[in-house]
Amino acid sequence: MAMASATPTRLPLISKHTSFYLTNCLPQTRFSHCTAIRPATNRFKCSAGGQTGFFTRLGRLIKEKAKSDVEKIFSGFSKTRDNLAVIDELLLYWNLADTDKVLDELEEALLVSDFGPRITIKIVESLRDDILAGKLKSGPDIKDALKNSVLDLLTKKGNKTELQLGYRKPAVVLIVGVNGGGKTTSLGKLAYRLKNEGAKILMAAGDTFRAAASDQLEIWAERTGCEIVVAEGEKAKASSVLSQAVKRGKEQGFDIVLCDTSGRLHTNYSLMEELVACKKAVGKVVNGAPNVVGITGLILTKLDGSARGGCVVSVVDELGIPVKFVGVGEGVEDLQPFDAEAFVNAIFS
Ligand code: GDP
Ligand code: MG
Repeated sequence: MAMASATPTRLPLISKHTSFYLTNCLPQTRFSHCTAIRPATNRFKCSAGGQTGFFTRLGRLIKEKAKSDVEKIFSGFSKTRDNLAVIDELLLYWNLADTDKVLDELEEALLVSDFGPRITIKIVESLRDDILAGKLKSGPDIKDALKNSVLDLLTKKGNKTELQLGYRKPAVVLIVGVNGGGKTTSLGKLAYRLKNEGAKILMAAGDTFRAAASDQLEIWAERTGCEIVVAEGEKAKASSVLSQAVKRGKEQGFDIVLCDTSGRLHTNYSLMEELVACKKAVGKVVNGAPNVVGITGLILTKLDGSARGGCVVSVVDELGIPVKFVGVGEGVEDLQPFDAEAFVNAIFS
């Protein structure tokens, strides 16, 4: 899951609560694979002192790794690339007289890859204008313009792809989203990355709704060598698990507390109330809280199995929230920091 500065003012609908607004905005097929990250407490003023340097460095390191690790992104988006390969064939023999036909087919390829109608029309119409104005004179010109317009869309609205963990430690990240979206797996993969960069990570098994959920997170804790806080009793509340974890994180000098939560839809009132309780409980542990911030980043998961990688662009355009990570597999290294340029090169190779 990824983050940009989606402030409450910019995104009133989303910032007020959590991913339920997010899921509301998206078609069914898409939101089931969409998980949100929100650093719930990134303005905590605890005694641990400023961590700006550490967290900024961490975000930068992870971003740099993304640049050198384009292979994973490339293979993760192979199905989408196959879908879009038709564009190369179309453009190979393009000539001005065929413009309408070619653009119709290009439109279809973008729609099939889930760019969404709004973006697709925007891109195609701008290509048409530039072709008719004589600015684009060849197949490669059109391909470059297409890539640039996708890159533009991604960098204008969701440019803060670097992980931003605030200023104080511990940074507390709540991972929210619908059931089966990949929250727990992404948390494990995120922990692995952050730990490899030198951060001291504590996991919190806040999914108290499903019996097997903490076992699943415990496996990830073992796999990544991270510590974990799990519920003690059968009927423990998620909010109490999370507040205990944050307390421990603060007392024992952890850098980041990664909190798993139960999957929920905005229509489930009691689960949404639980999320509010979690937020409050976490806030109580640290002085000066709670500063409620909205969803600040997204992790789009399961892109490896999907030919609809264009959803990255439509999600960013619709929500104005940056994608911070993409999930491209189930392994510990299959969470890739999102890099717009690498993404564009991967889907339009
Ligand atoms: P949660 O209910 O949101 O916590 O979802 P889980 O983390 O339990 O994931 C549900 C299933 O999706 C599991 O079988 C994961 O292994 C799988 N999964 C999660 N992320 C990815 C991904 O990026 N790619 C693939 N192929 N599978 C994933
Ligand atoms: Mg889970």
